[in-house]
Amino acid sequence: MTQGALVSVEGVDSRYGLLHAVRGVSFQLDEGETLALVGANGAGKTTLLRTIAGAHRPAAGRVVFDGADVTNVPSYRRVGLGIALVPEGRRLFPGLTVEENLGVAAVRGRSGRWSVDTVLDAFPLLKPLRKRHAANLSGGEQQATAIGRALMSNPRLLLLDEVSLGLAPVVVDDVYRSLETVIRERTTVLLVEQDLARAMEFASRVMCMLEGSIVLEGQAGQLSRDQVTEAYFGLRRSGREQPVPPPRAGGSAPQRRRGA
Ligand code: ATP
Repeated sequence: MTQGALVSVEGVDSRYGLLHAVRGVSFQLDEGETLALVGANGAGKTTLLRTIAGAHRPAAGRVVFDGADVTNVPSYRRVGLGIALVPEGRRLFPGLTVEENLGVAAVRGRSGRWSVDTVLDAFPLLKPLRKRHAANLSGGEQQATAIGRALMSNPRLLLLDEVSLGLAPVVVDDVYRSLETVIRERTTVLLVEQDLARAMEFASRVMCMLEGSIVLEGQAGQLSRDQVTEAYFGLRRSGREQPVPPPRAGGSAPQRRRGA
């Protein structure tokens, strides 16, 4: 593990019975980094996030968080260590209000800057809705509540699955604007995002999965849209790398992880 890495995923294999959903995945995330995980449906993104969060036990490999092997640590204890997952589908308690949904997450979390009030400051669209039941929220309001709920545990690592799924673009803009506040707090973010342009704009680094493996990764500013699209669909124009623009100061060049 490099010095300063908050998370180190080492040779992780995750399966559903005979189905090999994540195949020998290794990568690291430094504190304060924002990493977008992209890839087609079924590429293994959700399974990888769930494996890091402790919701899925890997068949092989290790997840190291802040220097400690957490591979066998259950998900609720990982929350206490500072790992929070916003799952696909949000999974709020529909009969509880926004405020109550936020409150339940604080129980297992760490202490820190996030409270109901600071979450509502970061997600202003929720301010007038704090007493509304989650069942009566729009998709965007539910997503904001789900992210807020994860923040209430004061995570060091925030895992976000399909932030913009099913939301109108204007609502997605709102949610991402609020996420900028989270990043300013130096929370490390790993997000799954289907919208490539948004992923590349928001994240400092992009990683592409194909059929369970990481096939491309690099600093967002150094990857072209074509490179990511090609990796996303498993396309190859030739057996050689496409030319890569010169690295920007302080960054490492994009690396093809397999194939091509
Ligand atoms: P999506 O964007 O569709 O959510 P993904 O990249 O997140 O895709 P995963 O949901 O991790 O991919 O799925 C990876 C593989 O594992 C797929 O082949 C999927 O069908 C399979 N899979 C996912 N969840 C389960 C499950 N609970 N039981 C069996 N197979 C599963």
